[in-house]
Amino acid sequence: MPDCLFCKIIEGKIPANVVYRDEQTIGFDDIHPVAPVHVLFVPKRHIDGVSTLTASDNEAVGQLVLSAAKYARERGIETSGYRLVANVGPDAGQTVFHLHLHLLGGKPLRGGATSGRGD
Ligand code: 5GP
Ligand code: ZN
Repeated sequence: MPDCLFCKIIEGKIPANVVYRDEQTIGFDDIHPVAPVHVLFVPKRHIDGVSTLTASDNEAVGQLVLSAAKYARERGIETSGYRLVANVGPDAGQTVFHLHLHLLGGKPLRGGATSGRGD
């Protein structure tokens, strides 16, 4: 995936502030944070996004969610709460077509589950 921004970050070709790393997943600070904690969790293996997931991606997606939850615990925002967001397609404002979850927290997030990214 030579033109994929997040693949380049995973390969270290583009710098990012990586805050979480395990066998299948990395997490790095969003370049335009909208909350005190705004980390993007990304599978190391390129997957386009939610709309093209297949059953063969089950493990990677499960690990992605687990990693975000583990990191939220480590950052001390488990009790205060946080939001996990996957944008899909134009109406949701998806701009990078490598599957990722936004972990947002560290402040009360406006709106409810349907309010978009939480900013
Ligand atoms: P999407 O809108 O596709 O759900 O989210 C893509 C996110 O990637 C955006 O929140 C955007 O700020 C972030 N982003 C875009 N380019 C870069 C970059 O070069 N580095 C980092 N760390 N984040 C980026
Ligand atoms: Zn990619």
